[in-house]
Amino acid sequence: MGMQSFNPPIRTLMGPGPSDVHPRILEAMSRPTIGHLDPVFVEMMEEVKGLLQYAFQTENVLTMPISAPGSAGMESCFVNLVEPGDKVIVCQNGVFGGRMKENVERSGGVAVMVQDAWGNAVDPQKVEDALKANPDAKILAFVQAETSTGAESDSKTLCELARKHDCLTIVDAVTALGGTPIKVDEWQIDAIYSGTQKCLSCTPGLSPVSFSERALDKIKNRKSKVQSWFLDLNLVMGYWGSGAKRAYHHTAPINALYALHEALVMLKNEGLENAWARHRKNHEVLKAGLEAMGLTFIVPEDQRLPQLNAVSIPEGVDDALVRSRLLNEFNLEIGAGLGDLAGKVWRIGLMGHSSRAENILLCIGALEAVLSDMQAPINRGVALGAMQSAISG
Ligand SMILES: *Cc1c(COP(=O)(O)O)cnc(C)c1O
Repeated sequence: MGMQSFNPPIRTLMGPGPSDVHPRILEAMSRPTIGHLDPVFVEMMEEVKGLLQYAFQTENVLTMPISAPGSAGMESCFVNLVEPGDKVIVCQNGVFGGRMKENVERSGGVAVMVQDAWGNAVDPQKVEDALKANPDAKILAFVQAETSTGAESDSKTLCELARKHDCLTIVDAVTALGGTPIKVDEWQIDAIYSGTQKCLSCTPGLSPVSFSERALDKIKNRKSKVQSWFLDLNLVMGYWGSGAKRAYHHTAPINALYALHEALVMLKNEGLENAWARHRKNHEVLKAGLEAMGLTFIVPEDQRLPQLNAVSIPEGVDDALVRSRLLNEFNLEIGAGLGDLAGKVWRIGLMGHSSRAENILLCIGALEAVLSDMQAPINRGVALGAMQSAISG
């Protein structure tokens, strides 16, 4: 008896990522593999760069996907921009700011932390105070969309502050890109990284990044070599570089890039503004259902991300049991709490292709069924009506 092929069940993905991948994207991925220096492939790479410039709203020449997940995009920003001894102001209001600190320190830099409560946005006043107290700081780093809590920080204001104090900026837009406005050029962001498996609804494993001219200058004029060979942009540029000749650096994940191309074509055809509006609208509908049931958001209303909804788990409810029943009985995945919020919240994602009316109806219906069956203290039989009002309202 031979081994069997692996056939995953069909799930609805409403956690913190990956999100549902559109069948068009999966189909694109199964097209024939060609060489990574094939002229036809190189042409497609150029299109991917152009489409990413659109998604990031930038003309930055150095805009491309890193051949690894969002964490590698994060690492590429830090290892390239932080030189030993550089002071970096890092904002932390959830899990991912903590990873930025790790990256700064492993790159030989000194992290100055600006802390905000988990569930709140980064406070610009604290950032300004830190910039004033550290006139030798070189970089400000923060997370626009904190996936661990569902809070959104004001990138425009934070980047303005950084500019005023002559700092470069590193912005985590892994969950933000495609779901909520990002304007790299208008906001003068210097280095930004994202991921493919959140609001782009592509398969996981690639990390779109973009670097400004100011960032590029710093990278080209480093005194020390970038500590990571694979992520050294001076070398990566030889392959993804502007137009001219391509040299082998690593074998690009060819089929994954077909998928990204398709995801970006879909985003372009929908239109960024429409995608942002869809995420906003669907958040309102989900929120109406959750709140009618009596569940409460942990993030203040004006700081909520539409694509990541964190709600408190009702008193006495078994977190893991609810999530496993949703998975086993409804093929529905929602996210658990991360870090300090483990066991305290559920994180319901409405990212990319997952941000659809039918997903919301399934999620609210399944959650109500499971919580009712477990005698949880929720309001029964009112969520659907509340959502219908939100849909037509
Ligand atoms: C998901 C995520 C990451 C990490 O991306 P991976 O693809 O899992 O490596 C980084 N930052 C934020 C804000 C994220 O949501």
